[in-house]
Amino acid sequence: MQPQANGQQPVYILQQGTEQTNGSAAQRNNINAAKAVGQTVKSTLGPLGMDKMLIDPANNILITNDGVSILREIGIEHPAAKMIVEVAKTQESRCYDGTTSAVVLSGALLEEAERLLDKGIHPTTVCKGYRFAKTKSLELLNELVDKCGIKEKIFDKAFSCAKTSLVGKSAEGIQHHLALLSANVVRKVEDIEDISIISVSGTTEEDTYSISGVVIERDLASNLMTPEIKNAKILMLDCAIEPKNLNLESQVQITNAAQIEEFLLQEEEHIRDMVEIIKSTKANVVLTQKKIDDLALHYLKKYDITAVHSVKKSDLDKVSKISKGNVVSSLTNEIDTNDLGTASFYVDTRYDYDLIHVSNDDSPVHTVIACGATKHVAEEIERALEDSIGVAWLAINNDLLPGGGTVHGYLHHHLMLESSISGREKMAVEAFANALLQIPAAIAENAGKDPINELIALKVAISDENYSYFVDVSDEPTNDVLKAEVFEPIELHRQALTSATEAAVMILRIDDVIRMNPSNAQQPPM
Ligand code: ADP
Ligand code: MG
Repeated sequence: MQPQANGQQPVYILQQGTEQTNGSAAQRNNINAAKAVGQTVKSTLGPLGMDKMLIDPANNILITNDGVSILREIGIEHPAAKMIVEVAKTQESRCYDGTTSAVVLSGALLEEAERLLDKGIHPTTVCKGYRFAKTKSLELLNELVDKCGIKEKIFDKAFSCAKTSLVGKSAEGIQHHLALLSANVVRKVEDIEDISIISVSGTTEEDTYSISGVVIERDLASNLMTPEIKNAKILMLDCAIEPKNLNLESQVQITNAAQIEEFLLQEEEHIRDMVEIIKSTKANVVLTQKKIDDLALHYLKKYDITAVHSVKKSDLDKVSKISKGNVVSSLTNEIDTNDLGTASFYVDTRYDYDLIHVSNDDSPVHTVIACGATKHVAEEIERALEDSIGVAWLAINNDLLPGGGTVHGYLHHHLMLESSISGREKMAVEAFANALLQIPAAIAENAGKDPINELIALKVAISDENYSYFVDVSDEPTNDVLKAEVFEPIELHRQALTSATEAAVMILRIDDVIRMNPSNAQQPPM
């Protein structure tokens, strides 16, 4: 800790062991940490971005191209760096995609700010300029929507945006298939929360499919049970089919062999009664959240009732929605047959473990099954689908903008010409504009192109009237984004600009970092 000089006597105002860094040292340290986060994910950006392999202490491997997944896994500790990770998380939760761009932009804004600080410009002036540039940029985005007229184009917005979100991922090989699947599934639901994605290994990526219903990742209670039932009558339970639960304090006093037999008989009878109640409802499928006793299984098989135990509550609730039945909480009384649901029941045994499908044509919930030969492939397809389904959902409800750096070029062009601001703040606005160009530069660089040449071409091509130039990294580049149909929902850009600016501003305003000694940390009041 820093002693404060007061005449001869130093005055200690902080607890012993507290570390304090202030002034420009604190600022530079934070800026460098935040920039490092941007650099970490930069090489994954764009259609030819590479993947990263992350290995955790337990030797679990994660191979991904997804910015937020990388940052979440690598366990960042530095507080300023953590603020940038938050940017990625917000981007992910609001927009499902664009996480790498948001983080790269945050890093770029701080890098440009650092140059201004070097010139002696005060951080609050930089912040003011950045905030102005952000507000202006958001206005410019709306303007660009109208100019591009993508709205008027007749095509499948959801499909087009889903396709853009899948570039650069290992799933790109089946981009068309996944984009189509994403676009179809988002149209069938009222809320994106009604779409679940699961991954299974032991098959190929091309097998990825969706069903109008829920998939329960459990084995049948016995493989001798009927695995496929159309219009199944489903009983949903949140109780076990087991002998009565004796509570811990209860004692059973048994003094001779006959009493043991009687006790066991009573238990058997109880189980049989439970199965008889099930049978009386005429249900041919039972799904329970809890366990099923072996004897109960025996009777269930005898009556040709298919059963699955240990079903997750969330899955059971979905089955209840799909089949229009109710979850029953006890098997002691007669069950109202109206509580039974009706849906198709099917066990898919093609994979490493069984998948139980419960579906209906008019199901309000849908499930996408991401397939892959190995667990890692399937999980990366699942992450790709999370992005593409989210983006397809946004695309239906949002205006679209061109991708591939066009937006960044357009904002740069206008911010550089901005005349309503001058002096040092204008310099900050220009720094903001230059930071934006790091996105197209990274897309070009990751594709093996010369970023400087690409930026020069972008800056020359984009003007007030021309806004269709993009960093085309395809084999036969036309550089016309409207023809190449690389589109993204406007929300992706809005969110990235807003959260990257806010995080950068927050970091720039810090000039004092006080880290308390953990051993001095006070217990929170009880
Ligand atoms: P993020 O996590 O930010 O979504 P990505 O690796 O998915 O990162 O890259 C997104 C960037 O790549 C966006 O700027 C997007 O416009 C751009 N992009 C997508 N498809 C193309 C394409 N076909 N050509 C050029 N750029 C593209
Ligand atoms: Mg993306």
